[in-house]
Amino acid sequence: MDEMDDMDEKILLIESDPAAARLIREALADARYGPFAIEWVATLSDGLDRLDKGGIKAVLLNLSLPDSQGIATFDKLYVTAVHVPVLILSDLDQEGIAQQAIQHGAQDYVLKDHIDGYSLSHALRNVMARKVAEEELFIERERAQVTLDSIGDAVISADIVGNVTYLNLVAERMTGWSREEAAGRPLAEVLKIIDGATREPCRSPIELAVQHNKPVGLSANCVLVRRDGVELPIEDSAAPIHARGGHVIGAVMVFHDVSAARTMVLKMSHLAQHDALTDLPNRVLLNDRLTQALSLARRRRKLLAVLFLDLDLFKNINDSLGHLVGDKLLQSVADRLLTCVRSSDTVSRQGGDEFVILLSDIEHSEDAARRAENIISVLEDYHRIAEHDLNITMSIGISVYPGDGEDAETLIKNADAAMYHAKQKGRNNYQFFKQEMNDMVVERQSIEASLRRAIARQEFVLHYQPKINLETGEITGAEALLRWLHPTRGLLAPKKFVAVAEECGLIVPIGRWVLREACRQVRAWLDAGLRPAPVAINISAVEFRSKDFIEGVRDILKETRLEPRYLEIELTESVLMQDGESTIAALQVLNAMGVQLAIDDFGTGYSSLSYLKRFPIDTLKIDQSFVHDITIDPDDATIVSAVIGMGNSLNKRVSAEGVETLEQLAFLRAERCGEGQGYYFSRPVVAEEYTKLLKGGISEPSRRRNGWITGLRA
Ligand code: C2E
Ligand code: MG
Ligand code: MG
Repeated sequence: MDEMDDMDEKILLIESDPAAARLIREALADARYGPFAIEWVATLSDGLDRLDKGGIKAVLLNLSLPDSQGIATFDKLYVTAVHVPVLILSDLDQEGIAQQAIQHGAQDYVLKDHIDGYSLSHALRNVMARKVAEEELFIERERAQVTLDSIGDAVISADIVGNVTYLNLVAERMTGWSREEAAGRPLAEVLKIIDGATREPCRSPIELAVQHNKPVGLSANCVLVRRDGVELPIEDSAAPIHARGGHVIGAVMVFHDVSAARTMVLKMSHLAQHDALTDLPNRVLLNDRLTQALSLARRRRKLLAVLFLDLDLFKNINDSLGHLVGDKLLQSVADRLLTCVRSSDTVSRQGGDEFVILLSDIEHSEDAARRAENIISVLEDYHRIAEHDLNITMSIGISVYPGDGEDAETLIKNADAAMYHAKQKGRNNYQFFKQEMNDMVVERQSIEASLRRAIARQEFVLHYQPKINLETGEITGAEALLRWLHPTRGLLAPKKFVAVAEECGLIVPIGRWVLREACRQVRAWLDAGLRPAPVAINISAVEFRSKDFIEGVRDILKETRLEPRYLEIELTESVLMQDGESTIAALQVLNAMGVQLAIDDFGTGYSSLSYLKRFPIDTLKIDQSFVHDITIDPDDATIVSAVIGMGNSLNKRVSAEGVETLEQLAFLRAERCGEGQGYYFSRPVVAEEYTKLLKGGISEPSRRRNGWITGLRA
């Protein structure tokens, strides 16, 4: 200790007896642990005044003063000078009160009779040092206390026998026990933890930490039962507390409320297993349920069925009315489907417009058929969505365990194949899976895969079939028909691959190729001095609706320097049926450009006369199915005559497809049909062959047969 500092240390002596005061001052005058500067007062009130002024390092206090006696003397002093250490001067018979003062906060006492310089100065030094240590400890505690109360975690500690020693604010709130109430109580009473799953009491982590003398990590799925019975999921950890000697004296546990996190986890797992749009189980959850249902069915030797449902022509609604309406329709369909099943069944959404229903317990496969019929009829009612009354139908495929598959994947795949078959059969119906369907699916997949490479590998070719003026026999144009020179299967007709290309969207780039190739060919004929008349190409609905279709036509005509009148576009009635207004707009643009427009396969769709008047169509192509039987089926003959008459009166060119015989030709000529196309004149041929036709006209024999006398060619 620094001698100079000690010089400044002022000790206040409060002693009413002057003799005693003198004695003490003398004793301390040059004491072993001094020196001290003593200031003496005789009353408590003087002492308090002096303390107020500050600078006092310790107080020597006699409790019996003129203005105050006994323990009250200390208490009054303590209130004023809580930070100043107090050494009580006690008479031998007053020792009890001196001890009481210590309990009230005094640092120590000395017996007046035993005072000597050495022991008194030693005692003074001691009380001052102890006060400093106490103050430090107090600050340390305070700091810990504030820290513990301001953290978000609950903290509780217990001693070695498991009695609570401390709780912070959060722990108070979470357990429902105040620090004062809990202190000294058995931990198990204050902190009730049960296992969330079994609801059995959990062993307290504090006990474990004490027992094993090492930290105990987070235990999962714990639930804290608050004093009022409310349950809170918690996550906790505990660590032993060691005394200076290293032995365990208790443990502290930290825990926090994880209800928000657990709710989040539940929400996340719901999201992971459900479809966001309809809230139906998604394919993940369906797979789980199906796998479970399968093992049950296996044990009980029962049947179960998987229904694969796909909305018919849903894309049209999405395209024409927008995705918002499409989404609402899907939700409405989902709601209806839920009304068709039992609680043990699962209706799931696979994505897009596909749903899968698991019928987990059926007696016979006919039960599944009945449910499918029910679904079809429940869907028949229109859906009212955003001022639209929408009608939508479904195609359903059914697979039944165990006959059609033993595992979830196979059953779903086979139901899907059966659904595809239902589509082929004209939609709005259901089909049971049959083994052959798989072969079709495999075939379809292999076509799709090789179609993707076909453009790059230049496997497509166009064949040209002439169209003939039935009056004069002249070639009036050609129809370009797509062929696929498949590397292993040989030459494939459109029937084998166009539908697949339409479904997977590949028809768009393929159609673009057809358009460019046809235009390029016409350009080549023109450059060779031939007069090719217009060449017609077939455009699927998917292509016609694809964005940039019209732009593409414009660009390619420009690129090939071809006048638009050399190009004719054949569209089916289904194109015209969908979304009338935007179709009319697109057709008007093409018409204004000078491109010719024809309706293909006329008569097989549902286009009405009023439709025809609204569309800028140049040509009606009567479908070959009518032409085929005109000479034998009076109905067909009537239809064909009517179409020709109607077309003529509307000033449209009328063209008959599939003319194969002289009789058919004669009928058509008699009915004043302007144009014809068919094997009778020529099959579709490669460009070089068609070039010969352009140069030489249709062959001599057929010319003579037909009674055309004038030349047929340009
Ligand atoms: P389509 O447009 O009605 O074409 C006429 C079809 O009838 C052609 O079949 C043609 O070969 C066939 N045909 C012509 N004359 C006769 C006949 O006298 N008797 C019989 N039985 N058939 C005859 P193809 O080439 O197999 O084409 C079938 C369909 O594929 C076409 O029907 C058309 O809808 C579609 N298609 C053809 N090429 C393309 C194309 O480039 N793009 C698109 N999207 N579709 C195409
Ligand atoms: Mg055609
Ligand atoms: Mg046709």
